[in-house]
Parts: sequence; C-alpha cells; structure tokens
Amino acid sequence: MSLSKLIDKLIHTVINMKIGIVGLGLIGGSLAIAFKKAGLEIIGVSRKATTCATALERQMVDQASTDFSILNGADVVFVCTPIDYVIPTAKALIPHLKPTAILTDVASVKGTMVQAIAPLWQNFVGGHPMAGTAEQGIDAALENLFIGAPYVLTPIETTPQIAIDTLQSLIEILESHFYICAPDIHDQSVAWISHLPVYVSASLISACLKEANPDILNMAKSLASSGFRDTSRVGGGNPELGLMMAQYNKKALRRSLHAYQQELNQVIELIEADNWEAIKTLLQETQNQRGTFL
Ligand code: NAP
Repeated sequence: MSLSKLIDKLIHTVINMKIGIVGLGLIGGSLAIAFKKAGLEIIGVSRKATTCATALERQMVDQASTDFSILNGADVVFVCTPIDYVIPTAKALIPHLKPTAILTDVASVKGTMVQAIAPLWQNFVGGHPMAGTAEQGIDAALENLFIGAPYVLTPIETTPQIAIDTLQSLIEILESHFYICAPDIHDQSVAWISHLPVYVSASLISACLKEANPDILNMAKSLASSGFRDTSRVGGGNPELGLMMAQYNKKALRRSLHAYQQELNQVIELIEADNWEAIKTLLQETQNQRGTFL
C-alpha cells in the first residue's frame, strides 16, 4: 500500500476513535474544538466542574467530568495540564485506561515527561504542539490554533509504531506540520529557539533597570519603541512559564546560556579591539541566516 493510501486509511480509522483530553485550557480546549469539528468523539476531563460544564455547554466535548474513570473507553488520551501536573496526572489516569489506549502529552519539555511516563505505559508518546497565545484557560481555546503550526512527537526505541502512526494521523487532522525526534533533541532545540530567548529577553529588561542614573533610565523608558518591544516581548511574559522552562529543561537551557554568554564575550572583545571588519561580518552572517529559522 502506498504511503498516502496508508495515511488515508489511518485517518479514516482515527475519525472513529474516542479522544480523551485532560486539562481543558488553552491547548486542551483548542484540541477538543479542532477534533470535535473533524467529527471525533471527545471525552474531556478537567480539574474544575465549572470548566467541564463550560466545555459541554459550548459543545467542545461530548462528555466531561472531573473524574478520570470517564476515560475508560478512550482510544487516545492527551494530557494537557500545566507542565508540573503532567506526570502526576498521567500516573493518576493510567489505571483507568483500556490496555490498547495511546497516551500522549503536550508539555513544552519532553525528556522529563518521557523518562517518567514511558516506563508506566508502553503506548505513551511524548508530544509538543508549537502553538499558543499569551492567554490561559478554557476561554482562551481557539478553533484554528494548530493550523500550519509545527507539532513534534518524541518517541523512544520501545514506542510501538502504531501509536506514532495514530498520533500522526490526528496531527494531520489538526492541519499541523508533523515532526519527529528524540526527546533530548527536542529539549535542546526548544532551549535554543524558545527558552534561551526568554532568558536573554528577561536579562535585557533586568540590565536596563539596573541603570544607576535616573535621568538615563527615565529617558530610555520614554524612547523605547519597536526594537525594544520586539526584543523584550518574551522576557515580559508569564513568569510561571519561564520558571518551568528553567526547572524542567535545566541542562539544555544552561548549555545554550553558556554558548550565548561566550558569544557576548566575543562581541565585547571585538568592539574593544575596534575590529569593525569582524563585527560587520558577524552582522552580515546573522542577517543572512535569521530567515533559516523562520
Ligand atoms: P492552561 O490554559 O492553563 O490550561 C491547563 C488547564 O488544565 C487549566 O485550564 C485547568 O483547567 C486544567 N488543570 C489544571 N490543573 C489540572 C489538574 N491537576 N488536572 C486536570 N486539569 C487541570 O495551560 P496551557 O497553556 O493550555 O498549557 C497546558 C500544557 O500545554 C502545558 O503542559 C504546556 O507546557 C503546554 N503547552 C503550552 C503552550 C502555550 O503556549 N500555552 C504551547 C505548547 C504547549 P481548570 O482548572 O479550569 O479545570
């Protein structure tokens, strides 16, 4: 069978699946809306009864409860709780799953999750949709959040192929771009493009605030415009998310921070040495290469 026919067949199969979603917030709620729109049956679980009632009222889910036992018929379950609840949530819901159920999570760090959950459930595949907004909770859920966004799975050697293929078909229903890599490759990659920028941007704001001359600081605040808006945006975001990036992706973030520190030291040396040729070459290279990331 050709690959496209196989994928069509899998999509046909997953359309008839029951999807469990735990944590009906921005990501979980958006997954519920997108899968429901595609005709899948959705079972929602959330911490608050009011959130479950809202999800039912808005027809984001077919059933909803605060009790994990409602997931006993689910074919695939997405854990979409805040990152520090992913492992305890997986541990608590596993006893309620049927033996063939596929379990996945959406947390933005993968090594810790895979290491803790894969030994408990063979059909577990770590996942991370690279989509989001600054909002949180069920009211932030959006129908088209995942369209055109990358969605990466991080299986390990023992992950059954059928679990990966099933999730790939679901990701295709979301119209996301599918990627696959090892958990540590994921964590180092997001350290570079997501977690390091938060700490670079936060350090920028913090360094500006340490300006000792109040006249300079006040004038800097008055003059700050589009450049500062762009470079400070992620450092001015949700502190809890930034903290969790450092706590759960410490090794990869430290590696990127040290490399960045070396880069800054080199720039300082070049400027002190009036090596304008080298500075120009550096800036030409970064101008040329920026587009390869975006
Ligand atoms: P969120 O909007 O706060 O949603 C999480 C929801 O989980 C909350 O609305 C809460 O609903 C529910 N919840 C909290 N604790 C729970 C528990 N112990 N058991 C069951 N439900 C619980 O957060 P989010 O932005 O969707 O993030 C969820 C996950 O997605 C995180 O692991 C994060 O790393 C990942 N992620 C986030 C983004 C992003 O940009 N935000 C992007 C990619 C991946 P109630 O309390 O109302 O029931």
